[in-house]
Amino acid sequence: MTGTSSDLTRADVAELSRLLGSGEVSAVEVTRAHLDRIAADDGRLGAYLHVEDDAALAAAAAVDQARATGAELGPLAGVPLALKDLVVTEGVPTTSGSKILEGWRPPYSATVATRLAEAGTVLLGKTNMDEFAMGSSTENSAYQVTRNPWDAERIPGGSSGGSSAAVAGHLAPWSIGTDTGGSIRQPAALTGLVGHKPTYGSVSRYGLIAFSSSLDQAGPMARTVLDAAVMHEVIGGHDPRDSTSIDTPLARLADAAREGAAGDLRGVRVGVVRELGGEGHAEGYEPGVLARTREAIEVLAGLGAEVTEVSCPSFDLALPAYYLIAPSEASSNLARYEGVRFGLRAGDDGSRDLDEVMAITREQGFGPEVKRRIILGTYALSSGYYEAYYGQAQKVRTLITRDFSAAFAGVDVLVSPTTPTVAFPIGTRVDDPISMYAADLCTLPASLAGLPAISVPSGLSEGLPVGLQVMAPALADDRCYRVAAALEAAQDAARGHRLLDELGTPAGAA
Ligand code: GLN
Repeated sequence: MTGTSSDLTRADVAELSRLLGSGEVSAVEVTRAHLDRIAADDGRLGAYLHVEDDAALAAAAAVDQARATGAELGPLAGVPLALKDLVVTEGVPTTSGSKILEGWRPPYSATVATRLAEAGTVLLGKTNMDEFAMGSSTENSAYQVTRNPWDAERIPGGSSGGSSAAVAGHLAPWSIGTDTGGSIRQPAALTGLVGHKPTYGSVSRYGLIAFSSSLDQAGPMARTVLDAAVMHEVIGGHDPRDSTSIDTPLARLADAAREGAAGDLRGVRVGVVRELGGEGHAEGYEPGVLARTREAIEVLAGLGAEVTEVSCPSFDLALPAYYLIAPSEASSNLARYEGVRFGLRAGDDGSRDLDEVMAITREQGFGPEVKRRIILGTYALSSGYYEAYYGQAQKVRTLITRDFSAAFAGVDVLVSPTTPTVAFPIGTRVDDPISMYAADLCTLPASLAGLPAISVPSGLSEGLPVGLQVMAPALADDRCYRVAAALEAAQDAARGHRLLDELGTPAGAA
């Protein structure tokens, strides 16, 4: 074996795939290096809710054995992986960060999990998250706090914060996250990772525990744009088990990433969204975030992109519209947790009728943010208020979609900061839902319109990562990868190393 186990946990997937394919390292060595690192560091980071230990080593051994017998293996055979804990995995605990699902071992697997397993990847474990993916800091998890590897006193973003902490903290080379209003892009931005929310309908939702079904999408969180594109190609494409799955082939995503890395953006028209941090719309945005965004845009221009400013006036209404639509859908989706079919059942001592048992189960099983959303959503959908709230929000959704269409008539991609601020300190926003919701200001428009959007690192502000968001028309996910890869390659070359390399290995790790 070449190198140390620390090299193996710092390698990206492209490198691991090469080392495994050439036989320089075994799948067991790679998996063990990650499990050792989890054992050493996860007490501090709190990224995982469940670690697969023995099962992961057994799966890795099976890959090694298959390779030894000369079987044709795919390029990802033996590459480890972490899954956000709302990805349903057969026989493996799946909680969606909620006490109401504690102890549940699903009888089936999500399509994304199945496709990754079929590609030969090895499941390391399930990552922490805000309960039912409602949140921006992972502090709404019913189980534990997750820390940002860049600064342990800060949040790793959310709701896929266990995934971002695991990948940035070198406890997994990549992870599946899910994004309803920003939950892949925001945690990726705050931890120095690449995170892509695919076009709605292009990655199967079968087996993802539902939050807001018209918005939810699973996607990759990785250390490089190319790794993200490779994972997207594995999980994406039509699935008859998801009624909203789009039945067209995916664009060539890894090729787009490679093309972007070559550094020629001549002919690419980039629109900078004024309403997301631009002139007259910079309130709440940190100067360091705006500076990194400006510099990233200059880099794109330097690679030949034609940069213009674009106005999307309805984006100002994305936040209120999202916080009506998402809770409305959640109130309906969460009705299934009634203590009868699966998960927690509380208060069933023979003295109470079914309605009381359901009420006690839900009172005990759901945390405060989930209850807030259920109440908000039920209210917004109630007769008499439906038109005034849910109906209006749907109209705003249409206006946002129209703003995007108008913008994409003149440009190929739109860019903005991914988040208004860098990672904030743990505990500073939990009691102030509006400021927590504001963390998603920049990511919500693409969610409401169902469009693809990627976050790619654009540098550091006061030692903490900042992300640039690149949005594209529906099914043009390849444009996100191309432009993001161009920025990544140019900035890596200019600084002489990857941004994530500035995050050292914690003392004591092998
Ligand atoms: N932070 C947003 C919310 O709380 C988005 C979450 C998500 O994308 N899952 O709803």
